[in-house]
Amino acid sequence: MKLCIIGTGYVGLVTGTCFANLGNDVICVDKNQERIKCLQGGKIPFFEPGLKELVSLNKKAGRLKFSLDLASSVQCSEVIFIAVSTPAKETGEADISAVVAVAGGIAKALKKPGTATGRGKHYKIIVNKSTVPVGMGDVVTNILREDGVPDEQFTVVSNPEFLKEGSAIADFMRPDRIVIGATHNRGFNVLTELYRPLNAHIIFTSIKSAELIKYASNAFLANKISFINEIANICERVGSDVGEVAAAIGLDKRIGREFLNAGLGYGGSCLPKDVSALIHLARENGYEPEVLNSIEAVNDFQIEAFIGKITRHFKKLKGKRLAVLGLSFKPQTDDLRDAPSLKIIKELIAKGAIVRAYDPCIAGRTAIPGVKIDQDAYTAVKDADALILVTEWAEFRELDFERVKKIMQRPVIFDGRNMFDPAKMRELGFTYVGIGR
Ligand code: NAD
Repeated sequence: MKLCIIGTGYVGLVTGTCFANLGNDVICVDKNQERIKCLQGGKIPFFEPGLKELVSLNKKAGRLKFSLDLASSVQCSEVIFIAVSTPAKETGEADISAVVAVAGGIAKALKKPGTATGRGKHYKIIVNKSTVPVGMGDVVTNILREDGVPDEQFTVVSNPEFLKEGSAIADFMRPDRIVIGATHNRGFNVLTELYRPLNAHIIFTSIKSAELIKYASNAFLANKISFINEIANICERVGSDVGEVAAAIGLDKRIGREFLNAGLGYGGSCLPKDVSALIHLARENGYEPEVLNSIEAVNDFQIEAFIGKITRHFKKLKGKRLAVLGLSFKPQTDDLRDAPSLKIIKELIAKGAIVRAYDPCIAGRTAIPGVKIDQDAYTAVKDADALILVTEWAEFRELDFERVKKIMQRPVIFDGRNMFDPAKMRELGFTYVGIGR
């Protein structure tokens, strides 16, 4: 099929590349000139394992192209995916302006003559893959209608994306489920055909249910994280170990072990903004979502509590040299959006600490105000008064801790992800502070 993907962020680029790999003709569009130039030149604007190779393979095969020209890309495509950003506004509400702008662009393109695609005269399936508030399917439909695109020419479908940064290609190719929300059989049928090679479990729903499924999924994941963090906070006060508790409760199939890792809470480009957007949606519709409010409150508290532990240990942070290991919001990505590291570093600097940092994927790529980002972990911890583990990159587990202890000013570890073995660290002579253990 001929596909147009609008937005070349994680979701757009992975979706476009994977569909190309399944044999479709894909054109990925973005308004960001630099990004398109970079993609045309064979570079990937962010780190995602395996993506560079897959983009290159499909570009060479002529199935994957990149363009700034939304109108002609839309005109020559049969299915158009909207995969642009929907960040949080100050109020927590989802900012849908990029989706609205793209819908307007599609409408303009479809009004132009010569838009036949071969699958029914002029017919387009417009798929919303961005995470959007409930009702956005109607908003996009109305934009097209009001701009004069006749109903016989298009249908809007909701197809939320569930991929995870760091394993995005595998998640796309082997999804737990595919959700297709539509109003017409044509929308269901075309998307079912498109996804058929994946042999995945497809759930057919209304557009409004599909839109809510995405928010409810992310809110539930955030809920598991805040829940186990709350249990960790109780563990610290009563002398239990959250690792032991999580392992045992996770064996109950109704609960499950995943996302029960106590730590610094959730961050990233999705969970924080999606929980906030769902809270906003609930309130706008006259309902105060107490559980969702608590998920956010516990998540905020985790960082405060961690900073509190560091501050209490040193009494005064002014002039203390702190080495932060891990900056991305989780391992296997270079995404810093809403990363706990940024909040922690900001607080530490505000309290007068001198912060150095290292992250396997960020060194040399990004600047964080007030922080020296080193090229390796040993340089970052040299002469430090404490090592602060923020993101659990596998390579930190392999550090030579005897060497680390020798080069640090003081052997103190604040383990924000419970990555290290407390007994082993104490045996090596470190003061070890974890979460809920
Ligand atoms: P992103 O911010 O990484 O990329 C969005 C891209 O859209 C950017 O390249 C931007 O230039 C482009 N864009 C914005 N406005 C445009 C316009 N008017 N015309 C053309 N291009 C435009 O976003 P992302 O992380 O890929 O997320 C996209 C959507 O998917 C969001 O709604 C997000 O919530 C959702 N989502 C993200 C993930 C994830 O892990 N990142 C997972 C599932 C769902």
